[in-house]
Amino acid sequence: MKDAPAPSKVELAKEGSNFLRGTVEQTLADPTTSGFAGDDLQVLKFHGIYQQENRDLRRQATEKTHTFMIRAAIPAGILTARQYLQLDAIAERYGNANLRVTTRQGLQYHGVLKGDMKATIAAMNEELVTTLAACGDIERNLMACPAPAGAVHRMVQELAREIARDLQPASRAYHEIWLDEEKIVSTEPEEEPFYGERYLPRKFKAGIAIDTDNCVDIYTYDGGLIALTDGNIVRGFNLVVGGGQGMTHNKPDTFAALAQPLGFVPVEHAVEAMRTVVAVFRDFGNRSDRRHARLKYLLAEWGIERFRQEFQERVTWKLGDPVELPRAEAHDHLGKQPQGDGNFYYGLFIQSGRLEGAYRAAVRQIVTELQPGVRLTGQQNLLLTDLTQEGVERLEVLLRAAGVALPHELSGAVRHSMACPALPTCGLALAESERAIPEVLRELEAVLTHLGLRDVPVSVRMTGCPNGCARPYTADVAFVGRSLGLYNVYVGGRFAGDRLSDLFAADVKQSELVEVLKPLLMRWRWERQVGEGLGDFYQRLHGDRPARQTLTGKEQVVA
Ligand code: SF4
Repeated sequence: MKDAPAPSKVELAKEGSNFLRGTVEQTLADPTTSGFAGDDLQVLKFHGIYQQENRDLRRQATEKTHTFMIRAAIPAGILTARQYLQLDAIAERYGNANLRVTTRQGLQYHGVLKGDMKATIAAMNEELVTTLAACGDIERNLMACPAPAGAVHRMVQELAREIARDLQPASRAYHEIWLDEEKIVSTEPEEEPFYGERYLPRKFKAGIAIDTDNCVDIYTYDGGLIALTDGNIVRGFNLVVGGGQGMTHNKPDTFAALAQPLGFVPVEHAVEAMRTVVAVFRDFGNRSDRRHARLKYLLAEWGIERFRQEFQERVTWKLGDPVELPRAEAHDHLGKQPQGDGNFYYGLFIQSGRLEGAYRAAVRQIVTELQPGVRLTGQQNLLLTDLTQEGVERLEVLLRAAGVALPHELSGAVRHSMACPALPTCGLALAESERAIPEVLRELEAVLTHLGLRDVPVSVRMTGCPNGCARPYTADVAFVGRSLGLYNVYVGGRFAGDRLSDLFAADVKQSELVEVLKPLLMRWRWERQVGEGLGDFYQRLHGDRPARQTLTGKEQVVA
């Protein structure tokens, strides 16, 4: 019999961490160091923390100055005005005076110093916002459409909270380290009943979409539920599994994949269904090679039938056949929208999710004055809810005074753009993303305007590496960092999020990213059918190819 492969170092770090404690508390108390080392770097992630350094300063510094990214997990992205104002105040006090809305409805600070970590996390928890399980090998922030748009939306948002609660780790480490809660003295060994001492083989991303709106990009996650609706009623869910964006350049055995339908789940079993998918991953995911440790690789090895069988054996009810669905769109929820109760919500576009300067101040003033609900979208934007007509008018006055463009004034490419943070904070970045996308968008906007296509929606995404945090491979157009100043260009996804793109051009200089797209954009201008998006047009040009289920790290240029 073949020996089982040795567990990866991270597995041993988790196992040896005493249920997520490591030596974090001791290092926090040590004034002689600005950072953590060794296994604690893995442990910290489970607490929603990444140790980072400013890579811009790397060459000048004689020694590393560590700073920390601290991320809140906010199921369905729902906050009260009071919570938002507290998070905003923390950014000023302990972060670098900005808030970053993540692509998964979380909110993160960059630039927090070690000495301020505890105060930051305690202040967040004061308003019941946690950072626990926002990162790490665990079920991450549970996404759901955040729009306050009626009974179906309320139901999926509540379900997101319920699943998040169900899959929280049991360890008290977080409360002991950050919130000074008393250590429970017991003769019984501590247990982590669901996760065990090694937690998951890697991260697990999950979300809930609605059959009419895929704003959360459900096919890109390890596990997803799609609510099947009948008017105001949810009659069950399609369960989809095995999606994921990350891959590695030039490694053909790594790939982005779309989640596949596993079956129909009755409403009363939705929480158990998600827990069961996570449990299968926990028990069978790869624990020796982290590059292959996502659920999509288990799916590729097993095939969907074996996965379904394993799932079925673990539950007492019958998984039905998945329901065929018409293609859903992905609403951006921007601008003034009716809530259905006489009030309105208003979606604000936040470029790359980075809220800072006059814009952040204006949002703070709006939230202070109008006390709306605040919700984060999966497209890095903010919704302000429960507004009267007068509230909407006041909000627009304040935004204009701060020089903020209103959503209807944005071009179709800017409005639907996303970018990951990349340099200078992300340790994995190969190229710029958030800092580069404004210039790329300006050039793209100029070309599209010239072609009379300024207002046509185009989803544009940029990432600093192929890990794909801004979900590049389901967009109309994406730029994925190869090395400093160099990108691969992908084309051919679509708003419904149910199709992967193709590698359109490899190793393109940043200054030529738009130039390389120009011939395609011109053909799109002249040959597009009524309402045809860029990704759809591109795929029609190559209509003889089967749709992709995966996109590997070593593709040939197709165009
Ligand atoms: Fe960092 Fe890559 Fe994720 Fe961007 S996509 S934030 S560069 S890991």
